[in-house]
Amino acid sequence: MPAIERFAKYLSENRLKMTRERRAILADVLSVRGHFDVDDLLARLRRSGHHVSRATLYRTLPRLVESGLIHKVEMVDGQARYELMIGRHHHDHMVCLRCGTILEFESPEVERIQEDVCRRKKFVMTGHTHQIRGYCVSCAGDDRARALDSRGSNVAGRSRAGAGGARAGGRTGP
Ligand SMILES: [Zn+2]
Ligand SMILES: [Zn+2]
Ligand SMILES: [Zn+2]
Repeated sequence: MPAIERFAKYLSENRLKMTRERRAILADVLSVRGHFDVDDLLARLRRSGHHVSRATLYRTLPRLVESGLIHKVEMVDGQARYELMIGRHHHDHMVCLRCGTILEFESPEVERIQEDVCRRKKFVMTGHTHQIRGYCVSCAGDDRARALDSRGSNVAGRSRAGAGGARAGGRTGP
């Protein structure tokens, strides 16, 4: 089902209308690659001549998430980033607490364990968001350097495991 129909179906099921603003937001979201935030979206909408308020955007994004068209990644500062899920496989995220880099990963083992845990609790899982917080390889390096500076000793942080198979989910913006 095309995204616009899927969103229209979701809206009508929730007694909401496909307004011009909602249509413009969806059209814009469909053109983005990678993870984006509200400011990115707002800037692009304004550039393309759409006068969508921040408030409308904040109200519409959760609708797009609920409809399954986009996915939300919680950031440390309380901000969120979003990404289009159309044509994408399920994946989970690692978020760097310092620079905000988002790494994506897919782990059949992690998925299987979550399913097993739910089965044991007789919990019917309809979806999940699995997110790991920490430091990316360059920021983890900074931590070690700072630890050495401040303590003047060789108490270095444990070396962080490489994000095997993870791809950098770059920020898509101007
Ligand atoms: Zn997962
Ligand atoms: Zn980082
Ligand atoms: Zn992602």
